[in-house]
Amino acid sequence: MSRFVPSLQLLPRVLAGEVPAIARLLSRAEAGLPECREALARAYERAGKAHVIGITGVPGSGKSTLVAVLVARLRGAGHKVGIIAVDPSSPWSGGSIMGDRIRMSDLASDQGVFIRSMATRGAVGGVARATLDAVDVLDAAGFQDVIVETVGVGQDEVEIAHASHTTVVVSAPGLGDDVQAIKAGILEIADVHVVSKCDRPDAGRTLADLEAMLALGSSLAARPEWQPPVVATSSVTGAGVEDLAAALARHKAHLDGSEAGRLRARRIAEFRILKHAEDLLRRRFRERHAGRVDALADRLLARRISPHAAGEELLDGAATGS
Ligand code: GDP
Repeated sequence: MSRFVPSLQLLPRVLAGEVPAIARLLSRAEAGLPECREALARAYERAGKAHVIGITGVPGSGKSTLVAVLVARLRGAGHKVGIIAVDPSSPWSGGSIMGDRIRMSDLASDQGVFIRSMATRGAVGGVARATLDAVDVLDAAGFQDVIVETVGVGQDEVEIAHASHTTVVVSAPGLGDDVQAIKAGILEIADVHVVSKCDRPDAGRTLADLEAMLALGSSLAARPEWQPPVVATSSVTGAGVEDLAAALARHKAHLDGSEAGRLRARRIAEFRILKHAEDLLRRRFRERHAGRVDALADRLLARRISPHAAGEELLDGAATGS
């Protein structure tokens, strides 16, 4: 076991981009340790330069593979890239994907790449908070691009992707009849659409379906200043990866210094405040009000109070400290 180094002492090494120090601070942030709060606050002050890219799509849509290929492209351009995978099934913890074409270990041994899988299992709430704290840390540590990969199912995951500067929604052929993103309700959050696996013969149909859906929707969506482009990619042939990188850069340029960018930053700020407040609330109730929850549960089970009224009574009582 290594000695416990206080987070504030770790911070200079984190800001210098030292991977072990970053990993340690992120573990503490993920656990929500009060000890690291000050260090996170300092990291937040230093952050704000990275391009935060959310990538979402249903499981099996090819996100992780695409991220690996995209990261290789961004590394080629000299960027340091951070990857945060909020996906319990993603292969980032090791192994290889696509046979051995892309080895995670190659990326993992690259000092310019930092990969982190966030534990979602058993984490009630707090995932969004911890993920965005991790984004700050990587941003402050000098990673120019921070990619947040989430499964596009579950409200938390979708919200996390949407709390990025640029949200990419991945659709894929071969996963059923429809464009899956429609079913998952995530189509409208896209700044950039990707149809992955375009080496497959059935990709043309997915592309046509998606474009038809977007044509229908675009008359309703009031976003005249940015029309989300559709990019077809293949992680096997590398087709479209350059176009995707270009679309990401275009969207970043669209946000930089514009009203749209200001609004987006504000929306993310508000989202983060609410996520921290929710997380705090949940902790406080667990720590300080367990007895009151217990007493209310008795009354609820005896049908002497409604669930809504019980929730209100708990909150009101907590607010007045009774
Ligand atoms: P995720 O669950 O969205 O992260 O999807 P993965 O990246 O794990 O990919 C799911 C499956 O699709 C795997 O079997 C991949 O090998 C396969 N796959 C990913 N990208 C491509 C591609 O560009 N072309 C083809 N043909 N298969 C792909």
